Amino acid sequence: MASSTVLTPGFSFQLTEEQLAVQAAAREFANSELLPGVIERDELQKFPAEQIKKMGELGFMGMMVDPRYNGGGMDSISYVLAMEEISKIDASASVAMSVNNSLVCWGIEKYGTEEQKQKYLTRLATGEIIGAFCLSEPEAGSDATSQKTTAQDMGDYYLLNGTKNWITNGNSASVYIVIAQTYPEKGHKGINALIVEKGTPGFVVGKKENKLGIRGSDTHSLMFTDVKVPKENRIGEDGFGFKFAMSTLNGGRIGIAAQALGIASGAYELSLKYSKERKAFGKEISQHQAIQFKLAEMATNIDAARLLCLQAAYLKDQHADFTKASAMAKLFASKVAMEVTVEAVQIHGGYGYVKEYHVERLMRDAKITQIYEGTSEIQKIVISREILK
Ligand SMILES: Cc1cc2nc3c(=O)[nH]c(=O)nc-3n(C[C@H](O)[C@H](O)[C@H](O)COP(=O)(O)OP(=O)(O)OC[C@H]3O[C@@H](n4cnc5c(N)ncnc54)[C@H](O)[C@@H]3O)c2cc1C
Repeated sequence: MASSTVLTPGFSFQLTEEQLAVQAAAREFANSELLPGVIERDELQKFPAEQIKKMGELGFMGMMVDPRYNGGGMDSISYVLAMEEISKIDASASVAMSVNNSLVCWGIEKYGTEEQKQKYLTRLATGEIIGAFCLSEPEAGSDATSQKTTAQDMGDYYLLNGTKNWITNGNSASVYIVIAQTYPEKGHKGINALIVEKGTPGFVVGKKENKLGIRGSDTHSLMFTDVKVPKENRIGEDGFGFKFAMSTLNGGRIGIAAQALGIASGAYELSLKYSKERKAFGKEISQHQAIQFKLAEMATNIDAARLLCLQAAYLKDQHADFTKASAMAKLFASKVAMEVTVEAVQIHGGYGYVKEYHVERLMRDAKITQIYEGTSEIQKIVISREILK
């Protein structure tokens, strides 16, 4: 029987000293290094390259990687806590962090060869280089089985041809995990996952997307024309690529759920503070019941989203099945992020509609959490499949 939604035995509401220290370090970093310039980066669509370097030095880019490969050796709960703090301030920085940690580092550590780990993971885990995860295509988004990119088996190498769309860290990455079809007749069982280095002949980074939100994030299309990828760069067995992608995205959803949580809690904290400062009709707006009720609903939904995120992280740390839990966390936290940020703009009135008060950016940033790493509709498919099996 599928496990119930009740927190699993052993789950503790008490954070450890180490988890609290990670949370405090992330909060301090976000306020001192990400907050200055976040509005400008959003406006100019500027990738936070220097900040990401520093995040790497502080251990935020390979948090869960084994210290043998230069990682932080931390648990997923610490990762959720850090993601929330970084996302409160800069969701463009946190998506780079999420992709590098949960998709690229985790994917290579879990399924890669020792040589791949030594060659790539040791540098990805410190943020010396960053990675990208390339599954989506112009005609393959939610339906990821419809891969048109091909990886033709040429003996000791693959010949890669095709286009990937919407790739986070698209231009800033050095290492790309590319999903491609080797045996079209086998459908999703014929797909492979290949590690492709930037600068490989035939690999071109295409146009940068001009986005509604997470504008500091570096989203590009990528083109591959007769790109030779050595066989030793394949992750897992021949034909394992689709399973690899689905398994990796399962964990990635915890990162995006935590990003949504952070966007929501950032907007809530700003709203709470503003409501105690702004006066209307002779009293702080926090003294009007309409505003109090908004704050009460925001706080309740944020706490519920946080519990779902921590539950998914806890199950992952226990090596238990977290498929349903991570989909629920992402579905709910992203909905909360959208609702809370809209209300945050409302609480700020006209000031909420201008850049200086941050909440309009958080509202724009929130929307993507309902779309990438599986839309909300896809999360419902995953959850219902788990409930009904
Ligand atoms: C800023 C940004 C960054 C991204 N980063 C990456 C990245 O780093 N790597 C990567 O590989 N991809 C990335 N993506 C792609 C993202 O994962 C896809 O956009 C997403 O999976 C949806 O695919 P699609 O855009 O093709 O929409 P579609 O799949 O065409 O969906 C359109 C609509 O139909 C709904 N729908 C589709 N199928 C069903 C169904 N069976 N039942 C019910 N509803 C359905 C969807 O939920 C959606 O509402 C990124 C996208 C953006 C915008």
